Amino acid sequence: MKKIQTWGALIACLLVAPVANAQVSTKKIKKHIHYLASDALDGRGTGSAGCEKAAQYIAKQFKKIGLQPKGTDQYLHPFSFKKAKNPHGGEDMESPEIHSQNVVGYLDNNSEFTIVIGAHYDHLGHGLDGNSLDANPQGKIHNGADDNASGTAGVIELARHFVNNQKKEPFNFLFICFSGEELGLIGSKKFCEMPTIPLAKMSYMINMDMIGRYRDEKGVMIHGVGTSPLWIPLLGVVKTDLKVKTDSSGTGPSDFTSFYLKNIPVLGFFTGQHSEYHKPTDDVEWINYEGEKNVLEYIIKIVDGTCTFPKPEFTPTRQQSTTARSFKVTLGVMPDYAFDGKGTRIDGVTQGKPAQKAGIIVGDIVIQLGEHKIDNVNQYMDALGKFQKGQESTVIIKRGTEEMILKIVF
Ligand SMILES: [Zn+2]
Repeated sequence: MKKIQTWGALIACLLVAPVANAQVSTKKIKKHIHYLASDALDGRGTGSAGCEKAAQYIAKQFKKIGLQPKGTDQYLHPFSFKKAKNPHGGEDMESPEIHSQNVVGYLDNNSEFTIVIGAHYDHLGHGLDGNSLDANPQGKIHNGADDNASGTAGVIELARHFVNNQKKEPFNFLFICFSGEELGLIGSKKFCEMPTIPLAKMSYMINMDMIGRYRDEKGVMIHGVGTSPLWIPLLGVVKTDLKVKTDSSGTGPSDFTSFYLKNIPVLGFFTGQHSEYHKPTDDVEWINYEGEKNVLEYIIKIVDGTCTFPKPEFTPTRQQSTTARSFKVTLGVMPDYAFDGKGTRIDGVTQGKPAQKAGIIVGDIVIQLGEHKIDNVNQYMDALGKFQKGQESTVIIKRGTEEMILKIVF
């Protein structure tokens, strides 16, 4: 019975919500992305001067829009950490301390619960942390227009919308731009360890990581739909012309993971992989501004649709690719996290790394690594953790309809 009542309330809420006036400005999205992804910000490497400049810009925007400061130092939420030896490991106590900060603004609707809307604003700087997919990243600025100037612009423009929509939602909003994401979701983890509102009062978290490359064939991927029983029925009634794909897991390669691990329902938006991912060529000319605007207006409708659910129920999900694994080897590929077929589809290959030397190309689907069968990205990650540097093995791939066995040296 409870379910049916909930449904009625949900639909009634959607009918009264003034959805039509959700107007996001492509001009403003473009302005933010152009600034954040400019060479002047030097790739926004965590803790760098360029990253600091980006934080100041975001704080200025939050202030202009009329958000209250909700960091620990005005809009800023400073933290320090020690860099991991490799991007998938924990903090390495021998490396020097890095200082950076999240940027946090608040819209107070005098409600008990608060929705968190976030995106990371840091990127790879010159790509020297082992995260670049460029063969020779030295001296090249990784502007990260899609990753994640696009999501940062999304946070700023959603803040503008919810401040100016002349509507008092039954929840408050916390808007956060995270630093340290590229080095292991550091900023969001630190925020969840020392939050400026109690975790128990957080309703749910919406994350945007790479929302600037919408293409009909890839659609928009929504991670975390299994983290609350509300999500699937809600997405079923919120109308959109976008092509939507979903993934149930509350963990994945972005900041929503940190909130999920604190038992908070999450939704993570992502417009899919591309061959400029983590390369110096992730630049503004590739951005689909109209597509990003549509994604943001879709998020607004989803948030409006939760107005009778100020605190949705949390459900744990299967674990996907966590960042806690430690690897001794790398294949030098970018897996397609949105691929829902059998195996792991390869979306990027780094020159000079084992996969490229073995003959793997973009579009190949890895179905076996050594003796380990691979049905999904999770199994791929598990298998990869079993190899040592220098070890020789085989990889079985599917290219089109053909299966091939290739020799690989880690
Ligand atoms: Zn990212």
